[in-house]
Amino acid sequence: MPGVGDASLNFVRVRLMSRLLNHEDELTNTEHFALNEIFGAHCYSPLEDLVIARTKGIWMWDIDGKKYMDGLSAYSAHNAGHCHPRIVKETRKICGKLDTTSGAFLHKELGPFKAELATFCGKDKIWMQNGGTEAFEFAVKVSRLWGYSEAKGVTENMAEVIVVRGNFHGRTLGATSASSEPAYKKGFGPFMPGFVWVDYDNIPALKNAITPYTVAIFFEPIQGEAGIKVPHDGYLKAIGDLCCEHNILMVADEIQVGLGRTGYNLACDYENVEPDLYIIGKALGGGPVPVSAVAGNDNILGLIEPGMHGSTFAGNPLSCRLARTYLEILQEENLADKAHVMGNYFMDRLHDISSPYVTSIRGRGLLIGVELNRPARPFCEELKKLGLLCKETHGNIIRLAPPLIIEPEEIDWAIKRLKKVLEK
Ligand code: PLP
Repeated sequence: MPGVGDASLNFVRVRLMSRLLNHEDELTNTEHFALNEIFGAHCYSPLEDLVIARTKGIWMWDIDGKKYMDGLSAYSAHNAGHCHPRIVKETRKICGKLDTTSGAFLHKELGPFKAELATFCGKDKIWMQNGGTEAFEFAVKVSRLWGYSEAKGVTENMAEVIVVRGNFHGRTLGATSASSEPAYKKGFGPFMPGFVWVDYDNIPALKNAITPYTVAIFFEPIQGEAGIKVPHDGYLKAIGDLCCEHNILMVADEIQVGLGRTGYNLACDYENVEPDLYIIGKALGGGPVPVSAVAGNDNILGLIEPGMHGSTFAGNPLSCRLARTYLEILQEENLADKAHVMGNYFMDRLHDISSPYVTSIRGRGLLIGVELNRPARPFCEELKKLGLLCKETHGNIIRLAPPLIIEPEEIDWAIKRLKKVLEK
């Protein structure tokens, strides 16, 4: 049995457990990392020697009180900044008063929130989920359901969903099946059938991949995990035109790029394109809780009947209230406009840096990728030492995605550190 007989490891475990139970407040960085190493399954490799204890606005503090700028926003989950006062206030109002009821009983937060989100997306209906990948799964299910309906008429079990190479839709088995990334798939097969891959930003390839069985094309308006890949102008519109021409659903995964991040309320607004289904998440929860949703019209979401799908926690009162509050903040604080202006400013200042390592700077709004000609991780570790927290993606790209409330002087602060590290 693994672990049994390893006396020194057991000793460390016992000692750490005793420290954890008796002196939790005094644990050091090393002890926190050791606890995570011993007791955790290691799906992530967090930056070294950094344990966050407090967050506020665009700032984070570690357990020793050192202050850092958040350059990642939990992969775009903190668009309004950490612990936004209204989010905190609404959390306090709901907690202790109205708890999860599940789908078995309707609660008073659900209807008003769905109405508000549907209006925001310009759609008839909403289905809520928790994490983003769950919403992706639901969108695949409902796309297939639509494909087998009279509106499309594909023979049952034959539906094909086109996905784009380099996509990231999450980590469930369905999303992993849709992935083209060998590192995400190795060891987890067999995979779910029914996906067809095409290259990103390649309309002729998409056209060629369409068959009578195609029910939907799923795409990210900007590919985040793939390295902040921005398609050519006209890409989204061309997908929309093909979908109309062939009676196929256009499904936009806006989980990372939606809700203000790219300088627009929804990333597809950049080309004035309205997909059939929006998948949104991350920032929707206002920061502290996972909330995701699929928005679509009656002809698609109206096909779902009781018993076909469900989730105990989806649409719980806290999620609804916080998501509704985030939508209000997004609009009242003009977060999308801010992301647009500050993103341009950040990008301009980045272009001023003369670095032997930088090969490309790209993005839209406050979702920016700085591609290097070498691994980005050591640069992120150096930036951390200087107080700026960001994370590498795809090995050689630094992703910069601070909360959308960042001010010009704070960008200057970040640029000073980036310059120091990138010009070295
Ligand atoms: N889709 C996109 C585009 C994402 O960026 C992510 C997460 O990074 C997901 C789906 C999965 O969301 P979650 O991690 O909340 O399940």
